[in-house]
Amino acid sequence: MAQKILPRPEQVRAARSLLGWSQQDLASKAGVAVSTVADFERGQRSPVQNNALAIQRTLETAGVQFTETGVSHGFHWTFMTERGMSDLIITFTPEAVEPVVDFASIFGEVEPPKVAISKIHCATPELRSKVTDFVDRHGAKLPHLHRLNKMLADMNDGEFFLLLPTPPSSTAEQYQYERALHQLNHPQKQPLDEHLQLFGLLLEKYDLHNPRTDKRFDIGNARTDDRTCRFCGRTKETGAKFKKEAHAIPASLGNKHLKLCDECDECNGHFGTEIEPTLVELLNVQRVFLGIESRGTSPVIKFPGGQLFRDKKHDNLMVMASRNISEDASGVLRARLDSGKLIVPQNFYRALSKIALSVIPEEELAALKKTIRWVRYGESPSGPLPKIAAAVVMLPPDPSAQITLYVRKESSKTLPHVVCEFRLGCYLYVYALPFSERDDGDLIGFFEQPEFQETFRHYALVPSWNQQDYSGNKEIQVIQNITLRPSNAPDRNPSP
Ligand SMILES: [Zn+2]
Repeated sequence: MAQKILPRPEQVRAARSLLGWSQQDLASKAGVAVSTVADFERGQRSPVQNNALAIQRTLETAGVQFTETGVSHGFHWTFMTERGMSDLIITFTPEAVEPVVDFASIFGEVEPPKVAISKIHCATPELRSKVTDFVDRHGAKLPHLHRLNKMLADMNDGEFFLLLPTPPSSTAEQYQYERALHQLNHPQKQPLDEHLQLFGLLLEKYDLHNPRTDKRFDIGNARTDDRTCRFCGRTKETGAKFKKEAHAIPASLGNKHLKLCDECDECNGHFGTEIEPTLVELLNVQRVFLGIESRGTSPVIKFPGGQLFRDKKHDNLMVMASRNISEDASGVLRARLDSGKLIVPQNFYRALSKIALSVIPEEELAALKKTIRWVRYGESPSGPLPKIAAAVVMLPPDPSAQITLYVRKESSKTLPHVVCEFRLGCYLYVYALPFSERDDGDLIGFFEQPEFQETFRHYALVPSWNQQDYSGNKEIQVIQNITLRPSNAPDRNPSP
């Protein structure tokens, strides 16, 4: 698709002018020399493939889309209602900016050359009619705008919603918006400062990192010559190859866009065959529930007594066939899957830690040398690993697994250096990276420490946590059970 076609010189010039960037701006963001950009734009000399790709990705990350005929720039707004979030992208070209100006005049103010969008809105009859006009005017060219009408139709008169210029960058931020929205719509129920109390202390002690998974995002060094593999420490000069694309979260968990540059082909291959299959195996049921496709096919779980899959011929309906289903008086269905696969529990923890090491800021890696050796080579000091806290939560489904890291700012006797939150659909895992030089103790029961609970207060909102031990280094058999409650909410006890 468009990714493969390298932009033409005039497109790069046009893209820069849309963004208001100088050649210097583009060069430094893309990590290439200014002369490379200048020569390319003059059409004097084609840059080497890697530089051209770096330029293209930098512009695309800033929202520019290269098309057959030219360039366009997309505004990516996120709507948040109490029912969930929805994204709306409005693109415009240098010649046609009316959709954006019209949109802005409904939801904000236009003072050329600036547009300002307000975050808080209310579904009034007046707003509905403005939006209908807007969709009538531009819907033929931008058919996805019809979703706007649909979204407003689903809301009650007088209901508040939020319009965000960028999607929330972390679960904490998303949570803050959700609380604010709830407060607007149910003013008598929630004390105004409650969410600040929840997150205030956490943000004082920790930095939050939540890389986005909805568009291309490359972590690390764009230029192959600058890369050092985060796991084996080799560079191109010392024999590492960087030809393959390394996914920060495995592609089979729905991640298409989040990639790590600083992972060599050999480490990539090792993770793909040695530890990631365990992660995927233990999350298989959730993959079927979410309908995550891998290489064009959706997963089918086969077990001795039946199978679990999505039926593409019948509206992608979830099908669970088992010889071992029971129903109790309250309508709760239980199925035993007996999948019988052999897994090494510790590999689940290693695979989760590998995801964290892929997205953590480079400067933290120095304190995590032991963690890296454990993840890459299985070397570890003896003794049990910290417990992993698991829960089932009702959050809006996301097509990709998500990772959020909390990196401690100050030293502490009990709070972990790196706390990770991994979510796939409604499964949430909270774990600490083991073996950090910045940790004092073994962190085994970190989640239940008073200081941790006092700092990570939002975890208290989850009704029940399950402390799981993944220290085991020998193969065991996994037996999974599925419980379906009458509301059709997926639930499962993921412990092996
Ligand atoms: Zn490597």
